[in-house]
Amino acid sequence: MACGTNLRRTRFAPSPTGPLHLGHALAALIAAERAERGEFLLRIEDLDQSRARPHWEAQIHDDLHWLGLTWPEPVLRQSDRMSFYQQAIDKLKNLGVTYRCKCSRADIRAALDAPQEGSPILGPDGLVYPGTCRGGDEGDTIRLDMARAITILPERPSFEDSGTRAGNHVLDKEWLLTHCGDVVLARQNIGAAYHLAVVVDDAAQGITEVTRGEDLFEATFIHVLLQALLGLPTPAYHHHRLIRDETGKRLAKRDDARAIATYRAQGATPEDIRALIGL
Ligand code: GLU
Repeated sequence: MACGTNLRRTRFAPSPTGPLHLGHALAALIAAERAERGEFLLRIEDLDQSRARPHWEAQIHDDLHWLGLTWPEPVLRQSDRMSFYQQAIDKLKNLGVTYRCKCSRADIRAALDAPQEGSPILGPDGLVYPGTCRGGDEGDTIRLDMARAITILPERPSFEDSGTRAGNHVLDKEWLLTHCGDVVLARQNIGAAYHLAVVVDDAAQGITEVTRGEDLFEATFIHVLLQALLGLPTPAYHHHRLIRDETGKRLAKRDDARAIATYRAQGATPEDIRALIGL
């Protein structure tokens, strides 16, 4: 077990909702390499139990071992950690920065289509919620009241990136308000939302460097905000390049043609996979 102060601890955190593809291979190999003599952890992000499947989870272990990666057991599974997410939500509630929301996706779409709304803004979390239920106490979705949250933030929370967005990034409160808005912290059928769970788990696992695709760069601002509100440390970040298909589109989970399992079935070696993703 690595416990020296200078040793990095990184993680790869896939969702078991489909096969791992080349983009995942890049993310996992970068995380493992950046851990150097420290520790590389696997975490299973199975919050959405309606989509998570045991056979995908087994395939994740198998593909990663095949790529030559190892990690300490037991592997943390988000579906086992609901009580910790609940504690974090309670803490935010006590800070007065949450409210309940009963809007369906259709309600939100309709509110955003109203003529007085102007053009809807697309942020890291999709369409920015128009705030219909703000201050409310009904409904199964729990949202962050962003306007309140930014007023209680410490002066200048920031994070360091050593990847494609290298530099120090200071949270811009105005941008959080307009481009992220009242993000979802929990839903009825999914106890905790990704943003909340990832922040709680990275802290609980003592992750010192979060490595992940640059598509999540903007979401990192939401995570650093939540860390500041919850009194959790902000790790270092390393956002990396994405693997794209011939048309320039980012690979998606359903892109089975680029699944590691498909290459394996065709006789590829782990070195072939590395070559394919430019490592
Ligand atoms: N479960 C997320 C994914 O599959 C992990 C993102 C992260 O590394 O924070 O993209």
